Amino acid sequence: MNDKHSNIYHVFQEHFPEYPDAIFIETPDGSQYSYAYLQLETARIARFLTEQGIQKGDRIAVQVEKSAHVLFLYLACLRAGFIYLPLNTAYTKNELSYFLENAEPAAVVCASDAYEIFSDLKSDKLNNIFTLDTGEQGTLIELSRETASEFETVTCSADDIAVILYTSGTTGRPKGAMITHGNLAANGLALQKTWNWQQADVLLHALPIFHIHGLFVACHNVLLGGSKMLFLEKFDSKTVIQLLPRSTVFMGVPTFYTRLLDDDNFNKECCENMRLFISGSAPLLEQTFEDFQQRTGHTILERYGMTETGMNTSNPLEGERIAGTVGLPLPGVEARIVDENNQLVKNNDIGILQVKGDNVFKGYWRMPEKTAEEFTPDNFFITGDMAKYNERGYISIVGRNKDMVITGGYNVYPKEIELLLDECDGITESAIIGLAHRDFGEAVTAVVVPNDINNPPDIEHLKLILKQQLASYKVPKQIIYVEQLPRNSMGKVQKNILRETYISLYQ
Ligand code: AMP
Repeated sequence: MNDKHSNIYHVFQEHFPEYPDAIFIETPDGSQYSYAYLQLETARIARFLTEQGIQKGDRIAVQVEKSAHVLFLYLACLRAGFIYLPLNTAYTKNELSYFLENAEPAAVVCASDAYEIFSDLKSDKLNNIFTLDTGEQGTLIELSRETASEFETVTCSADDIAVILYTSGTTGRPKGAMITHGNLAANGLALQKTWNWQQADVLLHALPIFHIHGLFVACHNVLLGGSKMLFLEKFDSKTVIQLLPRSTVFMGVPTFYTRLLDDDNFNKECCENMRLFISGSAPLLEQTFEDFQQRTGHTILERYGMTETGMNTSNPLEGERIAGTVGLPLPGVEARIVDENNQLVKNNDIGILQVKGDNVFKGYWRMPEKTAEEFTPDNFFITGDMAKYNERGYISIVGRNKDMVITGGYNVYPKEIELLLDECDGITESAIIGLAHRDFGEAVTAVVVPNDINNPPDIEHLKLILKQQLASYKVPKQIIYVEQLPRNSMGKVQKNILRETYISLYQ
């Protein structure tokens, strides 16, 4: 790719439909935005922000509710060579203060009702605060509409940073992952090819867009397919069921799928036009995979990735999609599983997953030491996920390295126990954590959601079932029943919260 076309926006543009009035986004209120409008609106915003003195490489921090215009703002930042910095809408003032201090953005775009918070946090370097609200309101839109709509997309190199995404990190302060134009192009094109994205596709988009799943995986595929999306402000099963007949592809975190299955109106008929259901960001239970297949006749395609790397693996579009696996490495991605001595492990043995490829990020913003720690000498990124290969080259994720429990000197991988528990009668799902214990160092502990909290399975009976199948050190010392597991907005179980909640269980 020559430099002129290394700005990811140029790459998108090459894939836009020839017919400029083709629709890019449709929202439930009936508003439609064409590809021609996308070009116009992004030109205006890019030009307006440039006229405010913002320069290539400056950061634009964005904390707003999801709307079509947030996406136009994102694309405008790419066009102008600014670094887009999306922030979860749930972040509090205290957290925001850290991000602003760390990233030193030249501008903030926020909801009108957060204006005061950001004004309080304003520093010398931050001269611009614009508002952007749903319903096409806010100063960013008002002011940019007074601007001319010509803008020449700025030339970027593949190595220029396009986006900084703060990773949620359970320990220490969040780290800003620097994702380049080249990373986005490599990963976007690999996915578009692997999932055979076409102009005729219609994506039903119900994910948040401050995270790679909703922003990169979902929107980039649409842009690179020249396709259309039905853009929901947030997930709700009723609206999704209503719009599925007009869609061909759906992407969700596992909770979206369990919520759809909880709705009796979700059936084969509403999925008749669908060609693909994709799941990721957290492990999909085998039970959900099977229930979904039975109810709809569709096999969910599970893929795996992370902020620092984009997508690494996917179950195949053609070919077998295996429950409990995240599929095969994507084209251009090298994935290896090693032991503590960095030696490759055998098939079916658990080890540390490392990846290499143009999809892998440039490093953590202003944290060169932290970046160096996460790469091997031969430049593989250490994902922090424990995984195994099967004989056919499919990878299964067993859990985060830091979630591994070490009890009496033995390593215990939570997933192995969780899978067995989830299969037991009367159990919906489970999470295994390690808690400080005087004798064992850590004690294996199960936090379990029963089907009926008022009538949960007998604990001694459960332990007996587990004892028949597991070495005794892996059998949970205690089983705790809860109504639900704490999850973040991407559907990930927050084991750190569980560990904090039960910190003194054995003390
Ligand atoms: P994030 O950076 O927020 O996208 O989180 C990335 C982490 O989510 C990965 O390192 C995995 O631990 C987890 N993850 C993502 N997709 C999957 C999946 N399909 N199965 C299991 N874990 C996943």
